[in-house]
Amino acid sequence: MRFSHLPRALAAGILLAAATAPPLRAQDGYDVIIRNGRVLDGTGNPWYRADVGLRGGRIAAVGDLAGARAARDVDAAGLYVAPGFIDVHSHAGEGLATAALSHGRPLLAQGITTVLVNPDGGGATDMARQRAALQAAGIRVNVAQMVPHGSVRQRVMGMADRAPTPAEMERMRALVRAGMEEGAFGISTGPWYAPGSFAKTEELIDLSKVVAGYGGAYSSHIRDEADYSVGLVAAVDEVIRIGREAKLRVVATHLKALGPRVWGYSAALVSRIDRARAEGVEVFADQYPYTASATSLSGALVPRWALAGGDTALRRRIGDPAEGARLRAEIVESLHRRGGAERIQFRRHRPDPTIEGKTLQWAAERGRVQPADAVLALLRVGNPGVVSFNMLDEDVDRLMKQPWMMTSSDGDLVPMGEGVPHPRSYGTYPRKIREYVVERGVMELAAAVRSMTSLPATVFRIPDRGVLREGAVADVVVFDLARVNDPATFSDPHRLAEGMVHVFVNGGDAVRDGRLGTATYGRVLSPRRSGER
Ligand SMILES: [Zn+2]
Repeated sequence: MRFSHLPRALAAGILLAAATAPPLRAQDGYDVIIRNGRVLDGTGNPWYRADVGLRGGRIAAVGDLAGARAARDVDAAGLYVAPGFIDVHSHAGEGLATAALSHGRPLLAQGITTVLVNPDGGGATDMARQRAALQAAGIRVNVAQMVPHGSVRQRVMGMADRAPTPAEMERMRALVRAGMEEGAFGISTGPWYAPGSFAKTEELIDLSKVVAGYGGAYSSHIRDEADYSVGLVAAVDEVIRIGREAKLRVVATHLKALGPRVWGYSAALVSRIDRARAEGVEVFADQYPYTASATSLSGALVPRWALAGGDTALRRRIGDPAEGARLRAEIVESLHRRGGAERIQFRRHRPDPTIEGKTLQWAAERGRVQPADAVLALLRVGNPGVVSFNMLDEDVDRLMKQPWMMTSSDGDLVPMGEGVPHPRSYGTYPRKIREYVVERGVMELAAAVRSMTSLPATVFRIPDRGVLREGAVADVVVFDLARVNDPATFSDPHRLAEGMVHVFVNGGDAVRDGRLGTATYGRVLSPRRSGER
């Protein structure tokens, strides 16, 4: 029977019934019942005691299920039951698409069940191909894709430091449109990084209008997190302007006040964002709970003019007497911005692994050179990843408390033991709970969980996730608050997080009694596109 033959109200009723879970009946069995836990439903409500019944990959019931039976009972007495955590800024996409790392162990150990990939304007531009690669690898967490502006620009214009021609602009629009058609949740940009830095605000607004037509969001590694170019406050204003003019939800990703010259600026950022919100602009932000960031050596210290034309052009400039001198002087300045060479620690450098985990100061002393000269010598042979200790607790805390602040890791997925990555790759979510909720009381547990669940799902319009309620998808974490821990440190980062007792992904037990399973329950997600266009 076709719906067109039915009265309209009846057809609507059938559609509604198909979209929500069937009503609970006493004789119904469940796949799993998580019993007696403290339910944090993800909305920010304080915990309440309830049983949670899972069936067919969905949450079938939340309430008193004492008389109901299940194929498997999980005793959650004394434990918290929450929606699976959503990481809105993750560099795990590349790793997850490989057979060696598709297990996503460091993610599941943190309670992360969904990651948003292609952040900072970087990553795959062909969403369909990336989706196929992820599915072929067999993922254990869900992946939501973003269209990366920097990669789109590079595909069309290379590393050119100029405005696009009308034809190039149309090709970029077409790539963004194709990405949205293929299931992306929005656009990521990185006007801080080359080649995204070569784009003016108008270019970002233009492409964001395409994204807005699909109901997507905008997430940006902002143009300046310190005082490199336009300055931190103006960079946040740019995000706000894009939200206002392109009319879409905008996110200042991994928001921070980077370096001594902007320490304390978090108060100004909060008031700018609050004012924009009062004016009707949908501005949000996300943050990782550490006072150190991570990027590449050139990302941290090399001015963008020196990156036009790519790596070969950079190496030529290093060797050029005039340009090399100007470059060196600007690197000295950037080192001051970041608080000095002892605040830069190397993560990974294949040409010389002996510097991994050591500081730039150490490398300079070993080579008996100034830090800026050590930087230039390193850049001649590669571009090592660095951790940069550059934030103030006061700023991190103030930003964290804002109701529009989500949690993100900005983490990578690397083989365990390889290099000295930022510990956020292993510990972000447990760390926010342990350090900022339990030990320092910066925020309440329910608010922290909300920043990891329903807020991200709302901002990025991820259907049926981020909340613990009947009919939602069964992405669920069960954690032991007393044992939640992030043993990963800056000197010893390859340590899995602790305290996530059970993790369900699409109803499958990805972590059971603290042990990671082997089944691939993850999916590449698609937005719901009803009435958007
Ligand atoms: Zn970034």
